[in-house]
Amino acid sequence: MAGIGILGGTFDPVHCGHLRLALEVRDLLSLASVRLLPAPNPRLRDAPRADVSLRLQMLEAAVEGEPGLEVDARELEREGPTYTVDSLQSFRREFPDAPIVFIVGMDSLRRLDRWHRWQEFTSLAHLAVADRPGGSLPGTGPVADLLAAHRCDDPATLMAKPAGHIMICSPPLLDISATRIRALVAEGRSIRFLVPDKVIELINRTRCYADEE
Ligand code: ATP
Repeated sequence: MAGIGILGGTFDPVHCGHLRLALEVRDLLSLASVRLLPAPNPRLRDAPRADVSLRLQMLEAAVEGEPGLEVDARELEREGPTYTVDSLQSFRREFPDAPIVFIVGMDSLRRLDRWHRWQEFTSLAHLAVADRPGGSLPGTGPVADLLAAHRCDDPATLMAKPAGHIMICSPPLLDISATRIRALVAEGRSIRFLVPDKVIELINRTRCYADEE
C-alpha cells in the first residue's frame, strides 16, 4: 500500500528547502503524497511572525500545481494546544493500515524528547530524518536510545510496515532556513530562488517580514 508522508513545521515562511525535502522523501519511499502540516503556535520556539492564515495561504500557493504535495490544515482547526502526537493519531485513524512517514530534519530529531508524548511517535508512524546541513546524530540520551531501538535505513523494509522504524536519509538538501529568509526580507534583499515566486508575492504584498525581528 502506498504510504503518506507528513512534514510538520512552522512554515514562517515555507521555502524551497521544505519543498525539496518533501519531494526527495516522497521519491525515496515512493509515497503517494507528502502533506505539509502547519503548526499554529509551536510551543518550543518563538511565536511565528506571519499569522496562521497567511502561513496557510503561503503553503497553498507553494504547492499549487505540484500533485505530490498537499497542505493539511488539521492542526489549525483544533481547539486548544496542538500536539504532533494527536495529529499522528488522527492520521492513523484515517489510514489504519498504510505506512505513515513523519519527516523531520536532523535539528528537530535532536530535540525530539521535548515534544509531548514523543515516545508514542514510533507506534503511530515511521520517522524519516533528513540529515540537514550542519546536523549530526544524537550520540547519547533518550533520543539516541530510541534511534538505536528503531533504526532501519532500508526503504523496502520500512514501507512493508505501517509504523515503527526510524530512517536516517541524506537526500540532496538546500541549505535554506526560514530565519534567513525573514532576515533577507527585513534587510530589503532578494529572496528569489529560495522561495516560490507566488510566496514572494504574498510576502511583498502583506509586508509580513518587513521589520527586523
Ligand atoms: P526557522 O529558521 O524559522 O527555525 P525552518 O526553516 O527550520 O524555520 P520549520 O518550519 O521550522 O523551518 O521546519 C519544518 C521542518 O523542516 C523541520 O523538521 C526542519 O528540520 C525541516 N527543514 C527546514 N528547512 C530545511 C532544509 N533546508 N532542509 C531540510 N529540512 C529542512
